[in-house]
Amino acid sequence: MIRRDVIKSLTLLPIAGSVLPIQSLLAAPEARNKFPLTAQNKPMPALHREAFVMDGHTHVMTRELLMKTDIGQRYTDGTVDLPRAKEGGLDAMFFSVYTPESYYPGRFETKNTFRVVNLALDQIKKNNSVIELALTASDIERINKKGKIAAFLDLEGAYDLSGDINLLRALHRLGLRSMQFTAHNTSNAFVDSCSDISYWGGINDLGKKIIAEMNRLGMVINIAHASNDAILQTVEASKHPVIYSHGGFYNIVDHPRCISDEAAKAVASKGGVIGLHFGSLFNNPKYWAWQKPPASTKRTVPYGTTPASLVPRSTNETIEDIDKRLAQRVPLTFRGTIPDEYWMHVDQLAKVIDYGVKTVGEDHIALGSDFDGGPELPREIQDISDYPQITMAMQRLGYSDQRIKKILGLNWLRVIRRVTEGK
Ligand SMILES: [Zn+2]
Repeated sequence: MIRRDVIKSLTLLPIAGSVLPIQSLLAAPEARNKFPLTAQNKPMPALHREAFVMDGHTHVMTRELLMKTDIGQRYTDGTVDLPRAKEGGLDAMFFSVYTPESYYPGRFETKNTFRVVNLALDQIKKNNSVIELALTASDIERINKKGKIAAFLDLEGAYDLSGDINLLRALHRLGLRSMQFTAHNTSNAFVDSCSDISYWGGINDLGKKIIAEMNRLGMVINIAHASNDAILQTVEASKHPVIYSHGGFYNIVDHPRCISDEAAKAVASKGGVIGLHFGSLFNNPKYWAWQKPPASTKRTVPYGTTPASLVPRSTNETIEDIDKRLAQRVPLTFRGTIPDEYWMHVDQLAKVIDYGVKTVGEDHIALGSDFDGGPELPREIQDISDYPQITMAMQRLGYSDQRIKKILGLNWLRVIRRVTEGK
C-alpha cells in the first residue's frame, strides 16, 4: 500500500482523479510587490535568501528509481527536483529515501532499501555541481559555502531490516545518518506505529538495542510515524536528542499521525526538534473535519503481515511486478480536488508553527514538508520553489529574524551537530 493509499484509507473518501487547477495555485498577488522576485517571478525576502534553509522530510528517489529519471532535471510535475529546490532557497534537505509498504509482503524491503540508497548516492554524485552528501553538520556548512545543497540521508520505512542490526551498520557505512524508527505506517519487530495496532506498548528490547546502536554510530533517530508511547519511550532510551521529522499537532488536528503535546514536550526536553508537515490533513481542522472517518473505522487489524522479524513471503508478486505497479503512481503528489472552503492557506500553517513555538519553544520547531510524499499543500505553495512563502507567513506573525532562522533550518542543524559530532 503506498502512502497516499494509507492516508486515504484513514479517510475512506475517494480521491477525485483530476489534477489541481494550476491558476488558483499561484502565489497571492499582493505578496509579489513587497519582495524582490526570483528569476521565476516568485517573491524571495532577503531574510530567506540569507538564512540557512533545511527541510526535514523531502521525498526523493522513488521516481528516479521507478522511472529511471534524474533529480537534476526540472520536472513539469511533482513538487521537488534540484532546480526547483535551488530556486526555493534550500541549503539542505533530509533526503528521505523511501521503501513503500508494497514491498513488505514479499519481504523485498531490504533489497529496495539498499538499491534506493545506492541510487541516491549515484544521483548525488551525478549532480555534484549542485548537491553533495553530508554526513555531519560541519559537512553541511562546508557544502553550503560552495553554494551547493547538502543532502542528509534519512530512511523512511525499512520495515525491520530483517531484524539484523548489521544491515543498519552497513547502511551507516554507505552514508545513511538518519533513520525513521517505524516501518512508515506499519508496526515492525521493535516499535509501534501510530497508524497500526500496538504490538509492543511502544518499543521492545530490540528497539532499545537499535536506539543504543544508532546513538553509538552517531545516527539521528527519527520518531515520526511512531505511537505516542513509542515516542515517549524512545526519547527516554536515547542518549541523544531525537527528531520527529514531519507531522502536525494532535491538539489542532486529531489525526493519529499528529504528535501529542506530551510527546512533543518530551522530544523538546531532550533537545530534539519537531518538523511541521505542509499538508492540510495534519494542519487544517476544517479539512480534517471534512475528511475524518467515523470512529467505528478505527484500525483493529495490522496493516502489514505480522511484526515477527522474519515473516514468510506472502505474495507471488516479484519485485519487478511491484515496481511496475508503483511506477504508475509516481510522483506521489496529491491529485485530488479540494473545494475552496477546505483548502488551507499558508497562514494556517504558520498558525500551527506558532502553536508549536508556544508549546515547546522556538528551539524545537522546524519544517518537514513531505514534498512528493503526497501532502495537500497550502494554496500558495505549488512546489519546493515556493518555500519563501513560509518565511513570509512567519514574518506576518511578527516573528524576529532569529526565530525564523531557527525554524527555517538552524534547529535541524543543531540536532545533527549534537548527534553526528557530539557537540
Ligand atoms: Zn512519512
